Amino acid sequence: MLNRTSLWLLPFLAACAVQAPAPPALPDCPPAAEQPALVRVSAAAPEIREEVRYATSDNFTGAPLPGYETPAALLRPAAAEALARVQRDLEARRLGLLVWDAYRPVRATLAMVDWAERSGNEWVLEEGYVARRSNHNRGNTVDLTVVDLRTGAPLDMGTEYDHFGVASHTANASGAVLRNRRILVDAMAAEGWENYAQEWWHFTHPSDDGALDIPIGCYAGRGS
Ligand SMILES: [Zn+2]
Repeated sequence: MLNRTSLWLLPFLAACAVQAPAPPALPDCPPAAEQPALVRVSAAAPEIREEVRYATSDNFTGAPLPGYETPAALLRPAAAEALARVQRDLEARRLGLLVWDAYRPVRATLAMVDWAERSGNEWVLEEGYVARRSNHNRGNTVDLTVVDLRTGAPLDMGTEYDHFGVASHTANASGAVLRNRRILVDAMAAEGWENYAQEWWHFTHPSDDGALDIPIGCYAGRGS
């Protein structure tokens, strides 16, 4: 029940409410209504595993990349649905997907290029392992591998992720490694994903969407 003192306090409390600081805004996030649609892979297919390397120092640059402050694998909706279908196909064979990267803000690509130029590794640009403009920026490209659901272990693909060399060229393998790469390539191709011949892990889904430079956290933080 309000007494005289609490009534006197009401305008003051109301003023405090108005002046109270807003919760910290996510960096460089446009209004939600202006953000092009990207969806979390985990929303389209919760069974797909994620290990977003560029959010950590466990990547070829040795440091987390800008735009990955809140790690999540995001894709345009049609690409996310196509990836979910690949997962369901593989699950019927006791296999599944492990995603290392999906949508990549332009600022992260620029940081990769900057790293290459400053560290004397321009060859990764010249030989096509790091692009100055990447399809990842458009939200329709993924880096991923196949895991055995019985053991949880990734299949032997012959190289680590982001091994920049001829051993990563998809067709440059034999025996079990070539068979494993074909499992991934064939499952992805069945849903419209095209492999990049120099990287067995890199696949693009057809799209006319343009590049984006919105930090991943702008989406992950909203739970979209
Ligand atoms: Zn890639």
